[in-house]
Amino acid sequence: MDTTRSFGKVISDVTPMFEKVLSAITIIFIPLFGFITKEYALHILQIPHNYIKYHISERQMRQMIFSNTMIKYRQMIIVSACLAGMNTRYDGTNCGHPEIIELVASGKAIPLCPEQLGGLPTPRSAISFVNGDGNELIKGAIGVRAIGADGVDYSKNLINGAMETLRIAKMFNIKKAILKEGSPSCGVFKVWVNNRKVEGCGVTTAILKANGIEVAQIEQ
Ligand code: SF4
Repeated sequence: MDTTRSFGKVISDVTPMFEKVLSAITIIFIPLFGFITKEYALHILQIPHNYIKYHISERQMRQMIFSNTMIKYRQMIIVSACLAGMNTRYDGTNCGHPEIIELVASGKAIPLCPEQLGGLPTPRSAISFVNGDGNELIKGAIGVRAIGADGVDYSKNLINGAMETLRIAKMFNIKKAILKEGSPSCGVFKVWVNNRKVEGCGVTTAILKANGIEVAQIEQ
């Protein structure tokens, strides 16, 4: 299965048909069952009855129920934290992308930094591969390592960070990710191997794809 799709396709898939159907059902049926709606609101929103009576209109209540239901069923995606504007890069900077920031701000994406999840500090040494990419590293290919500019072997940190990312993806039933191109963790089509940028992927991309998660890239 080809798990690499275009960034645009992934963005358009974030709002599945299911949301539209649920929206139609909510708009058509909830006004017909005002009493049930009120009891439902009390139950799922866990707010006092008096508050609904004096402070929230029927319309506001319906909107609250609708957004609560949307959050419950929405298909979230994972994005690289640095693309979401967080200063997680090795040099303590970010590469914020407006569309990714918007996805996070609207509650559609979870920003994660696999290298921080793997126990590395920020700032940290720049890391690149020797003798192979992330795919070959997770397969245990002989001589393939992820080495920092300081000469330290960070292979274990990158694998741990990728496994943590996968754990979170499974926790939220995530099927898609948009990651930062070129990174030894997040790279999708290109990474640095033996001081040259070549075709290959990062460790997190390799592990997500091996577990059936679609991965798209952004070059920043
Ligand atoms: S590219 Fe990935 S690992 Fe590198 S800073 Fe961004 S989120 Fe973290």
